[in-house]
Amino acid sequence: MATATQLPLSPGKLLIGGEWVAAAEGKTFSTINPATEEAITELAMAGKADSDRAVEAAHAALTGPWGKMSAAERGRLLWRLAERMREKADDLALLEACDVGKPVSEVKHVDVQFAADTFEYFGGWSSKLHGDTIPVRGNNFNYTLREPLGVVACIVPWNFPLLMASWKVAAALSVGNTVVLKPSSTSPLTALKLGELALEVGFPAGVLNVVTGPGREVGDALVRHTLVDKVTFTGETETGKSIMRLAADGMKSVTMELGGKSPNVVFADADLEAAVRGVIGGIFYNKGEVCAAGSRLLIEASVHDEFMDKLVARAAKMVPGDPLDPKTRLGPLASRSQLEKVTSYVEAGTREGAKLACGGQRVDIGTGKGYFFQPTIFDGVTNQMTIAREEIFGPVLSSIVFKDLEEAVSVGNDSPFGLAAGVWTNDIKKAHRAARALRAGTVWVNTYNVYDPASPFGGYKFSGFGRELGAAALESYTRVKSVWVGLD
Ligand code: NAD
Repeated sequence: MATATQLPLSPGKLLIGGEWVAAAEGKTFSTINPATEEAITELAMAGKADSDRAVEAAHAALTGPWGKMSAAERGRLLWRLAERMREKADDLALLEACDVGKPVSEVKHVDVQFAADTFEYFGGWSSKLHGDTIPVRGNNFNYTLREPLGVVACIVPWNFPLLMASWKVAAALSVGNTVVLKPSSTSPLTALKLGELALEVGFPAGVLNVVTGPGREVGDALVRHTLVDKVTFTGETETGKSIMRLAADGMKSVTMELGGKSPNVVFADADLEAAVRGVIGGIFYNKGEVCAAGSRLLIEASVHDEFMDKLVARAAKMVPGDPLDPKTRLGPLASRSQLEKVTSYVEAGTREGAKLACGGQRVDIGTGKGYFFQPTIFDGVTNQMTIAREEIFGPVLSSIVFKDLEEAVSVGNDSPFGLAAGVWTNDIKKAHRAARALRAGTVWVNTYNVYDPASPFGGYKFSGFGRELGAAALESYTRVKSVWVGLD
């Protein structure tokens, strides 16, 4: 496995105002490779003073060259960054694979490409977003200006570190904001690399700042800072709630992308082979550490036995392995605490009477190290069990039986969350009826886990509000000013 000396690391410092700087108090922390359980490298651990400096740098950059740049020039910079990310795809993939245990080939072909696509997509919007002229009463001329909000704090989780950062940073920068990016301490390496690449392609100093450190201190300081205009957060629902409370004091705009417990509904008339593939990918892609993971399988009673047999047979073929092996499709869980969390949910499932159909154990891939876990499927689950209600955020599927469309929708919606849902059927009316009735920000019909920078993504209920991606995201990174000119 790659050692720290072979890794294309950025300086292990904070990126503030275009400079790499140590933390004010000189503290550091290490990030751990979940496949080897070894420390990868030492990084600066920011505190409140560093967070404040980063916000001040971002605020100053609003009136520097960035603020004077034309929209088209701004868009070109985003494009250049996308291009540079593609050139550095191997480096980004290696860093992400070591930091969070994602299969290196998947990061290179999925995460990095999607992240670059996102910068291109939003770069295209820079020169296309504009105000309107409005036919108002009286002899007046009225028009609107669409302005950036100012400084945007982007606080991101560890499961798709580069991608979640890119969704936020690209949208915020495309319309002229400046950014302080705070990655999770579990996975800070690609955020630092993104900052490095942004400097290389010519983003002015202070436009993108990156601070690494504990959420409770650095994240908290960002949310409290009076010069921060917006907080865009992706992470756990409980963290989101506490950020919202703080943001309310400062009357800050917020976007919340939170947890999920998404139903993947398989009707008896579906193409069952395709549905098996979709359900497996829906829960085991990225070891289930996906906010939109289809973690509740809702299966129509008449095909339950046949479907479960196929599902378990396919799950058995998914063997966790070294994330740096290009053939690996399932890496280790991202951290020890994730391993402990997943294990305790498997225990809860068994205790509450669900039947373990496969998996349920930690795996040794031959190294005696790493947080590898078997793909796990519980059958005979009721929607009231803990494993059906709470987000496990791991490779654990809960299978629940239903009898008809009405019951499928009712069970699907009986959750505090509403991030995504899947529907598998060959009946077009049933598909659209279910898509309308399911209370989720994304509904996939006869597919799962597909995304595009142009299509909005976000939640209902405790999965949050506001949308990432698409034109919908841009609304939340700008404000509209109405200008009146008297013509009499
Ligand atoms: P988390 O809430 O623990 O942390 C997210 C980020 O917030 C980290 O950078 C963390 O350091 C920071 N943070 C923690 N406490 C803070 C505080 N008090 N103030 C400010 N910042 C703070 O979440 P996580 O464990 O990193 O990520 C997993 C969660 O993210 C899951 O619930 C998952 O569903 C969710 N998620 C949602 C989406 C989506 O788009 N809806 C996408 C990916 C992940």
